[in-house]
Amino acid sequence: MSDPIGDSLADRLVSANFSRRDGVLHVGGLDLRGLAETHGTPFFVYDAALLRRAYRDLAGAVAGFAVVDYSVKANPAPAIIRVFRDEGAGAEIASAAEFAASWAAGVDPRHILFAGPGKSDADIEATVAGGIGEIHLENGEEMRRVAEAAERHGTVQRVAIRINPGPDAQGGAMRMGGKPSPFGFDEEELEAVVDAVEAEPRLHLSGIHLFAGTQGLVAATLLSQWAYGLSLAERVADRVARPLETIDLGGGLGIPYFSTDAALDLDAIRDGMPALIARVTSDPRLREARIVLEPGRFLAGPAGLYVARVRAVKVSRGSRFVITDGGMHHHLAASGNLGQVVKRDYPVTSVVDRGGPRSPCAVVGPLCTPLDMLARTTPLPDLTAGDLVAVLQSGAYGLTASPTGFLSHPPPAELLVDEGRARECGAARRPAD
Ligand SMILES: *Cc1c(COP(=O)(O)O)cnc(C)c1O
Repeated sequence: MSDPIGDSLADRLVSANFSRRDGVLHVGGLDLRGLAETHGTPFFVYDAALLRRAYRDLAGAVAGFAVVDYSVKANPAPAIIRVFRDEGAGAEIASAAEFAASWAAGVDPRHILFAGPGKSDADIEATVAGGIGEIHLENGEEMRRVAEAAERHGTVQRVAIRINPGPDAQGGAMRMGGKPSPFGFDEEELEAVVDAVEAEPRLHLSGIHLFAGTQGLVAATLLSQWAYGLSLAERVADRVARPLETIDLGGGLGIPYFSTDAALDLDAIRDGMPALIARVTSDPRLREARIVLEPGRFLAGPAGLYVARVRAVKVSRGSRFVITDGGMHHHLAASGNLGQVVKRDYPVTSVVDRGGPRSPCAVVGPLCTPLDMLARTTPLPDLTAGDLVAVLQSGAYGLTASPTGFLSHPPPAELLVDEGRARECGAARRPAD
């Protein structure tokens, strides 16, 4: 059997983002065993300092080129939106409820933008009435309904055209485009769509939106996608014969989940900035535009852990199963059932690890389905009932991307740790009052 110990992704993430004292995992200086005692298990915990660090690292790397907004669907806990708001982020939202959550977290509505392929009349109504900064149009029906809402409110609504890139964007490092998509308008019909928006007196075409795909870990790919976005912006500016005000280049910056993933190289992103900045500043069509990145995963993912308690450990035909109180009903992505083509293990670690031998374990949840598996072969030290395990990289697409109603187990606590204190921050379980 291969040596399961060594420089695993989980070990690297623990030493980069968290700490162990006497072998006990701490988050923001707090002992996870204590949080488990106080709040019960399973729970999510997010470290505000790590949220800020991710934001500052990215905003610093793209400074002078783009500003960084937060894509709320990655983790809509209001306290998390507020952390990013305090860093200067606007919000990208996909529903009226996310608009309300962002507004409640103090985000200026003018710095909120709304994307999503099936906006309801209620969504459109609430966001237009709330003075949202920009609505991203994804189909012709939406164009008409946003114009009607603006008419009812006696306003002119700022909108952007979301573009589904054409086959030319498949070339080189860009790796996007040319495929049918429910999102946005096909690039091939861009000029006609621009003309249609321009013909609506209740719509003001302020910009474009290009979102190429999620979990991008290669800097060169992202840089060439952004450059392609600039060329689309130039095309739209030419068509409307005025400079663009906003250029949204999407989110999609990745984080490592598996031992084979290399983290996105922010230095390489930084090295790509002078060329992009030179292009923008030398072009009057782009020079005045607010260029936006709106990632979710990159900003929130690394800051979160999902902590579960071991209920039993058993061996079945030579395989060791660690059965916990946490599972796919809270963390679908870690179980490999949220869009993964090949199921691989998220980084999982034992909350107490004093350096003893590790052996491969399957970590499973309490649900009556073989899908409820948080890890298949992850190296863990000897565990017994009552011990704690933690799933790393769990701050984005965790609880709210999971089938919480499945098997009717209670929702977990969500905790935000900041300045040495933990408080409940989730919407799923309100603190008793
Ligand atoms: C989901 C989404 C994002 C965030 O994607 P990440 O991969 O988490 O960065 C950004 N923009 C839009 C329009 C989205 O739908």
